[in-house]
Amino acid sequence: MKKPADRPQRLAILGATGSIGSSTLDIVRRHPERFRVIALSANRDAEGLLKLVEEFHPKVVCLADSGAAEAFRKYLGTRLHKEIFIVSGSAGLEELAQLSDVDTVVAGIVGVAGLPSVLAAARAGKRVLLANKEAMVCAGSLLVDTAVHSGATILPIDSEHNAIFQALGSQYRCFNRPEHVRRVLLTASGGPFREWPLESIRSATVAQALKHPNWTMGKKITVDSATMANKGLEWIEAHWLFALAPQEIQIVVHPESIVHSMVEFSDASTIAQLGPPDMRTPIANALAWPDRIESGSNYLDWATVGSLRFEPPDPVRFPALRLAANCLESGQAASNIFNAANEQAVDAFLEGRICFGQIQDGVEAVLDALEGRFPEPGSLDDVVQIDREARTMTSHWISMNEQS
Ligand code: NDP
Repeated sequence: MKKPADRPQRLAILGATGSIGSSTLDIVRRHPERFRVIALSANRDAEGLLKLVEEFHPKVVCLADSGAAEAFRKYLGTRLHKEIFIVSGSAGLEELAQLSDVDTVVAGIVGVAGLPSVLAAARAGKRVLLANKEAMVCAGSLLVDTAVHSGATILPIDSEHNAIFQALGSQYRCFNRPEHVRRVLLTASGGPFREWPLESIRSATVAQALKHPNWTMGKKITVDSATMANKGLEWIEAHWLFALAPQEIQIVVHPESIVHSMVEFSDASTIAQLGPPDMRTPIANALAWPDRIESGSNYLDWATVGSLRFEPPDPVRFPALRLAANCLESGQAASNIFNAANEQAVDAFLEGRICFGQIQDGVEAVLDALEGRFPEPGSLDDVVQIDREARTMTSHWISMNEQS
């Protein structure tokens, strides 16, 4: 086993109170000699963040929501003696991402809300562990240019992209076109509705959509897995991360979620990464990269794994894949619209305002209305502008089509 680095890796964990944040902190807890938490962030969960502060003693915390930051200051006044800096808002998140005493930023915020901090971390030349796929979807070329310019290292922790990254070999670095690759196979579980009768899916309840067969994750990505918008977002993410054409990335449904993705090379060799469906494996891989550490995930019992199935995705059942394909064809602005409309529609579904089938209806209606209306975004401001207009239109669509 290799010797750990001379000093602990200093971490800023953005989205610390979420599913990715918890998995990351579980690994940190197992390796206190390797990692030191410098900064943590949440949106509104002041209580959750406080528990983490008491355990990990960061120097700086950010609550994106300013009201929650106020509440946090009050709690803190009575509970902690050590000095701790509290910042808030998107500017606060950017500050955390650029701290000079941080080596690695774990980008675990959900949605495009995480984009400014991911860009800030890339600009500051940090090592960025990227879970926040929406950032890459909305600003792929901007993020690539920023990271290449600063020398930032982007390590994917989305399980599929981490699997591809591992399969490409230890010399591979993101944003370079990999050599001798014929195609990449992005696996998808198919979510909870893979075998449901088509006519029942449209009216699936929130509880049914949140019951993922293999993974435990935050609500937004779990609903995205049920519609397969998640795979659409991952397709766009893979296109940017690995500099591959959309046609070189194929989606394959693999219900067991054991093969996390594969790379097929020009000599017809296929290299896959396999493991349990536990995010601690890809996160540990990226935290320790290029080394390896124990992750806390259970090891697979190969004698009982049984058969591994692979099948093509059903385009009727999962229209989100067709929408994502159109966005890849159309360009970055379309991907921004797709993401913004999807975030709004998923929120409306979770709030009970629209039914499951309307998520895709809304996204498609907004894409049809707005596609081609914007030039390709060249800056964060451009991305924010497209995002805002797409959200306004989606809100309008939702209020016109809301369930009574
Ligand atoms: P969660 O909903 O579990 O956690 C989201 C985190 O982001 C929380 O800490 C939350 O704070 C914070 N947050 C939410 N909204 C904002 C905002 N507007 N501004 C700042 N912070 C905010 O999400 P996940 O951990 O499931 O997902 C995070 C990202 O990782 C997503 O992009 C997802 O696609 C990706 N991912 C997740 C996987 C998983 O297994 N969960 C697997 C692969 C990728 P608070 O708690 O205060 O609300």
